[in-house]
Amino acid sequence: MAEFDFIIVGAGSSGCVLADRLSADGRHRVLLLEAGGRDNQPVVAMPLAWMKAAMTPAITWGYLGEPEPYAGNRQMPHLRGRILGGTSSINGMMYSRGMPSDYDGWSAAGLKGWSYAEVLPYFKRSESCWRGPSLYHGDGGPLTVSRIPSDPATYPALMDTARALGFKVLDDFNGAEREGFGIPDFTIHKGRRGSTSKRFLAEAAKRSNLAVESHVLVRRILIENGKAVGVEASRDGQTMQFRANREVIVSGGTFNSPQLLLLSGIGPAEELRAQGIAPVVVLPGVGKNLQDHPMVMVVYEASGPFTFDAQLRLDRLAFTAMRWFLTGTGPGAAMPFAGQGFVRSSSARPYPDIQFQVSNVSFMAQPWFPGWRRPVGYHLSAGALQLQPESRGQVTLKSPDPGAPPAICFNLMKEEYDRRFACDLLRFCRKFFATDPAARLIKAELAPGPAVQSDDELDAYVRANIATGAHPTSSCAMGTGEMAVVDADLKVRGLEGLRVVDASVMPRVVAGNTNAPAIMIAEKAADMILGRTPLPAAELPAACSG
Ligand SMILES: Cc1cc2nc3c(=O)[nH]c(=O)nc-3n(C[C@H](O)[C@H](O)[C@H](O)COP(=O)(O)OP(=O)(O)OC[C@H]3O[C@@H](n4cnc5c(N)ncnc54)[C@H](O)[C@@H]3O)c2cc1C
Repeated sequence: MAEFDFIIVGAGSSGCVLADRLSADGRHRVLLLEAGGRDNQPVVAMPLAWMKAAMTPAITWGYLGEPEPYAGNRQMPHLRGRILGGTSSINGMMYSRGMPSDYDGWSAAGLKGWSYAEVLPYFKRSESCWRGPSLYHGDGGPLTVSRIPSDPATYPALMDTARALGFKVLDDFNGAEREGFGIPDFTIHKGRRGSTSKRFLAEAAKRSNLAVESHVLVRRILIENGKAVGVEASRDGQTMQFRANREVIVSGGTFNSPQLLLLSGIGPAEELRAQGIAPVVVLPGVGKNLQDHPMVMVVYEASGPFTFDAQLRLDRLAFTAMRWFLTGTGPGAAMPFAGQGFVRSSSARPYPDIQFQVSNVSFMAQPWFPGWRRPVGYHLSAGALQLQPESRGQVTLKSPDPGAPPAICFNLMKEEYDRRFACDLLRFCRKFFATDPAARLIKAELAPGPAVQSDDELDAYVRANIATGAHPTSSCAMGTGEMAVVDADLKVRGLEGLRVVDASVMPRVVAGNTNAPAIMIAEKAADMILGRTPLPAAELPAACSG
């Protein structure tokens, strides 16, 4: 097929869903182009190995951010999947949708069709939830949402601590109530990672009207007379062109979608000219408004040998891998995750703006064996994310070469509000682990360490250690004003035949993880692109809106 109706750039969380939905009725010829390769590696499939997958250079983009001026000029790695399934093939698989107020905020800003009641049916359409069908969950979609076993050594103590601090224990973080503690759901299917490649694309790729081309880097969008008509791409040094009769849809993710628009002459005029690119459509917002969840971490030495570190002894790991491979069960089929909470930083907040996560292992963990390598110790770690940050960053071009990485800077901790919030996050983690019975799980605080106490010490620690939650969004923001890149139909302003459909279109990062929202955005976009009537809005109890 040399010509197609739709060309989708990027087979990630959004792109695979689009490829499935746009090709489903067989009436349209669809081409899905992906810079990375196949996703058949065990490290991708095994849930326990997710950090290893995220760090594997062969399947990731290897982006290193620009020096962060308000965070000690540190350059941070920004992990992104370069593989079928995109970042859904390397992520932590936690299923979380954000808060109703996120979407109601988009709608209130003039983005018709994006209220929580209107997007909920699209979350449900994609989902096959272990809970069965309900007002909040679907059970007929390709995306398996499952539950992992809780850790008996830590979970009861964490939940009792949450209760002692006045929080509820929730069974469902995506239901009617949003503030509380519990164990999240995961996109794990029969013990294996449920990426969008596996759950949406694998079946769809059998259709004769869908072509999937991997190892193809899209270099620019072809534009004729104000309309996107195709893309120029390369594979193994060979340049090629593909034509789209109806639309080009950019689903390259929050770093690569703005990069591709800029490379195609769509963006701030001066920035384009500085790279020797003639502006085709002047859109000052391309690459701006970049956001992520700032994240702090507190690491504890556990009070006994009950953490996951015990499982990292080589012989046990080998058994875990074998068991997982043969049966899809055991520790390999889950995450070393102890519990999480969504909480409000103040009672004035309508919805939680802190995500608190406890793992029964730390990032220092590594395999060990007597006589080979000593264990790092028995650790617990508490991570806390600021869900509604105020600092904004940008993605810009470093070079007009499509093979060069873009310049990524979040301006983390630029705003005073974020700096104070990050210090409060550390205080929250400490307060939680100073409360019984969680206090009995720990022996000592390893990081930041007991010496870091005063406001100045906390602030210095934050600047030296703040990281992101790996949830970058909003660099091709949907909106109605001058800085908007796409409109409420996800059409790039000022051009025909071009949309952006991925996490980059969120006007503001949602208060939760971003994979399910990227999938929802693609579900909704598919109906828009096919000209279908949107799914009817959910009828929600009053307490659930806004
Ligand atoms: C380590 C890590 C852990 C995470 N954990 C979670 C979690 O537990 N739960 C959760 O909800 N979210 C999590 N996330 C975030 C979530 O996975 C992402 O927000 C989501 O996958 C983004 O989807 P996307 O479609 O916007 O982009 P992506 O999934 O990144 O897709 C973009 C695709 O486009 C391809 N591409 C880009 N440019 C080009 C080009 N020029 N030509 C061809 N192809 C191109 C890329 O290779 C990629 O496949 C995590 C992220 C990371 C990095």
